[in-house]
Amino acid sequence: MRAVSLHRDVIVVTSALLQLNCTLVRAPAPEQGEAAGEQQAAETFIIDSPVLPDELELLPSLLQQSAFAPPSGLLATHGDWDHVLARIAYPGVPLGCAESTAARISAEPGAAQRELRSFDEELYLERRRPLTLGSIQSLPVPGKCGIGDAELELHAADGHTADGMALWVPWARVLIAGDYLSSVEIPALNEGGELGAYLATLERLRPLVAQAEHIVPGHGPVLGCERALAVLEEDVEYLRALREQGADAELPPGRRSPEQRRLHTGNVAKLAALE
Ligand SMILES: [Zn+2]
Repeated sequence: MRAVSLHRDVIVVTSALLQLNCTLVRAPAPEQGEAAGEQQAAETFIIDSPVLPDELELLPSLLQQSAFAPPSGLLATHGDWDHVLARIAYPGVPLGCAESTAARISAEPGAAQRELRSFDEELYLERRRPLTLGSIQSLPVPGKCGIGDAELELHAADGHTADGMALWVPWARVLIAGDYLSSVEIPALNEGGELGAYLATLERLRPLVAQAEHIVPGHGPVLGCERALAVLEEDVEYLRALREQGADAELPPGRRSPEQRRLHTGNVAKLAALE
């Protein structure tokens, strides 16, 4: 696991597996003078999660070392099992997600747990605690989510799956994109994913990317504005080619490994099933 500070209030933790990113966000310090003498720790949220048991167990000490308060809320960009694991580390802390994700989780109870179990069995991973999603706070998207005296912006991000949101941290100019804008993974149409919705999400994210200092994709390296805009263009090009040429569509440069071709085959099958 690797932790990198993007801003005094934003740390990205990257899991050793799947290059999965988890973002720790702390509310900005109040204006000087306003809270004179008051040493209250600013509110902290954890967005998405690392995947390995040891990494999840390290989150509390990482927060402490960084002088971040224990989280008052967990947020998930979408309902795929690998993004909702923070509840294993913090079973008592509420999990918030987009209305679309809350609906998905309640429509398929136990799905994340089943996928986690088969992942863990395949890798012989053991966990001290099971994953319980408990009651989920459903957040209206587009919308805002208060953190201390500030707000995170929530933007709809569907197409990879039928649900999801991207988060914009205005004072740090960080975009937490969910499973979009990855430089290591081609756009993947998972269960419930849809090509037109994916393209619409990329266009919705474009103006945020253009003003971002850092873009945190669900998987892969944190990107600067220019690189993320280039990935966005490549993704648009790939998705249009996928729509027009199906299996013959060219994969984005640098994302043509056997694993990416496997994802591409999945996308082609997904489109064929919808026809
Ligand atoms: Zn993911």
